[in-house]
Amino acid sequence: MLPSTVFTVHGEASPGLVPLVQGLKAVFLKHGFQFEERPEAPQLVLNLVTPTSARPYRRKAQATFVLSLMETERVPNPAVPAMYPYLVRTLANMLLAYVPGQEAHFFTLDLGHYAEPEGRDFFERLYARILPMASATLVVNNRFEPDLEPELWNGDELTAALSLAGKRLAEWNLLPAPFNIEEILPPEDLRHVKRLYGIGGLSYGNLSVRKDEKRFWMSASGVDKANLREIGRDILMVKDYDPAEKAMVLSVPPHVEPRRVSVDAIEHWMIYREHPEVGAIIHVHAWMADVPSTQAHYPCGTYELGKSVADLVRQAPDPARAVIGLKNHGLTITGRSIPDILSRIEGKILRQVPMA
Ligand SMILES: [Zn+2]
Repeated sequence: MLPSTVFTVHGEASPGLVPLVQGLKAVFLKHGFQFEERPEAPQLVLNLVTPTSARPYRRKAQATFVLSLMETERVPNPAVPAMYPYLVRTLANMLLAYVPGQEAHFFTLDLGHYAEPEGRDFFERLYARILPMASATLVVNNRFEPDLEPELWNGDELTAALSLAGKRLAEWNLLPAPFNIEEILPPEDLRHVKRLYGIGGLSYGNLSVRKDEKRFWMSASGVDKANLREIGRDILMVKDYDPAEKAMVLSVPPHVEPRRVSVDAIEHWMIYREHPEVGAIIHVHAWMADVPSTQAHYPCGTYELGKSVADLVRQAPDPARAVIGLKNHGLTITGRSIPDILSRIEGKILRQVPMA
């Protein structure tokens, strides 16, 4: 059972959305959530929007999960490029595009897209899709400490290997172009999401390499992975995790205005700490045949996603050479080194992530 949980509805329902909103309200109430009219810090907001009025709900707390609901006559094919802008523009964590009488399509920030047809247990199935997303804990705060050793200010042979690997992944066409949120969001909304979510932008995939027993280098959030260059801007040194602040602790050169580390740093941190023989980790939004996969779809940058991946790495025959599927999302691959990972995956990667 979850702790007491408040949800609310924001905006006006278009006619086709009315039964959907009623059904969702009922199923959340049934599972112990409480409805409030204008709560201060709700756990979940159902944000009702239309294609012509895709307004954001401006949350005050990072922990508030916004699900935008939009009625549509049909979902175009390919769906993600058409619908993803509504997800971003309404500042939502998830978009549910509802075709009345037919099905509900979910879209997530990690480029996930899956549908539930109407019929038996429709609202229970929607609830099961929404709950892992809405109840996960984000670990995206960064604490920068200007204590990186001067001899690392320009990187080392490990960061050189990291940049090369980024170029290689781009050549293999495994890095979707970062989504240009600058073009779609007005400046105040952009500042708002960047501050709230600790992101530098929306890009997909990340890479890291172990420096020593406790520390690792990792790509920054929102940057082009094919062009990783500057330490503190494109590549960060992760030195610790502070559970009290739910923050990643980063060592940066004192003269650099740092960018944030990739939101998946918590997942990499868990794996490096548990498995000293893991020397590198690569995450891509792509797939490989016959890989074990997480069961629930958790958002990027959450403790739950990190833990579910770390659990599967632990169960792998060799945790230092594991390929783990992240449901509806992508792969996390461990290796003894960056070249070790690249040589194991070359030619085996499927660009399309299966959606279930
Ligand atoms: Zn990802």
